[in-house]
Amino acid sequence: MKHLLMAVSGPSGVGKGTIVKTLIGRRADVVESVSCTTRAPRSGETHGKEYFFLTKEEFTTRLENDDFLEYDEHFGNYYGTPKSFVEETLKTKSVILEIDVVGALRVKEKFPETALVMIVPPSVEELENRLKGRGSETEAEIENRLARLSFELAQQDKYDYVIVNDDLERAIGEVEAILDGAYRK
Ligand code: ADP
Ligand code: 5GP
Repeated sequence: MKHLLMAVSGPSGVGKGTIVKTLIGRRADVVESVSCTTRAPRSGETHGKEYFFLTKEEFTTRLENDDFLEYDEHFGNYYGTPKSFVEETLKTKSVILEIDVVGALRVKEKFPETALVMIVPPSVEELENRLKGRGSETEAEIENRLARLSFELAQQDKYDYVIVNDDLERAIGEVEAILDGAYRK
């Protein structure tokens, strides 16, 4: 079976992390890509697990060597999806990138066979409830994330698949079906 590169996007709090982590925990044939970043590790973060932590020089060298499928700058630091890791892993496993819409569309340009999957909430109210329930953002941060919602949802047409995360198990099942080729176009 051919292994699939899948980019999973969607608004903050929609359940991307929950879906991807549950699925990866169940399947040995699927891994999540680990991005490179120039930001410093936060306490508890390990090199190679949350990110590959690089110096600016190391990041620049890899950039010059064309080793990023895409990269971007956030809050003064660089973040990139490592091409060599993704290409190597795809020889034996499917790879999931949890990535924003801008990054995902850039990956698709380089790797047209990438399956673009957007996870959407059943409603704006439910998304707000989940963000509040997660309890990891302040009220202002939640407002920021909701303000970005319409931009993200407006990109749906550019995606290959749109999955509503109302029932978690059903949503995970739909992602698995794409990975297994059941819906492959
Ligand atoms: P994201 O990675 O998209 O920012 P998370 O995976 O952190 O989102 O999910 C946000 C919150 O919503 C978490 O508290 C999670 O447990 C909850 N959640 C995820 N999927 C569902 C679902 N289908 N129904 C109800 N709550 C959900
Ligand atoms: P954090 O520093 O909080 O882990 O991440 C900051 C931002 O960088 C988040 O919006 C996250 O989605 C984004 N990010 C993480 N990895 C990558 C990547 O490989 N490429 C791009 N374009 N953005 C990333």
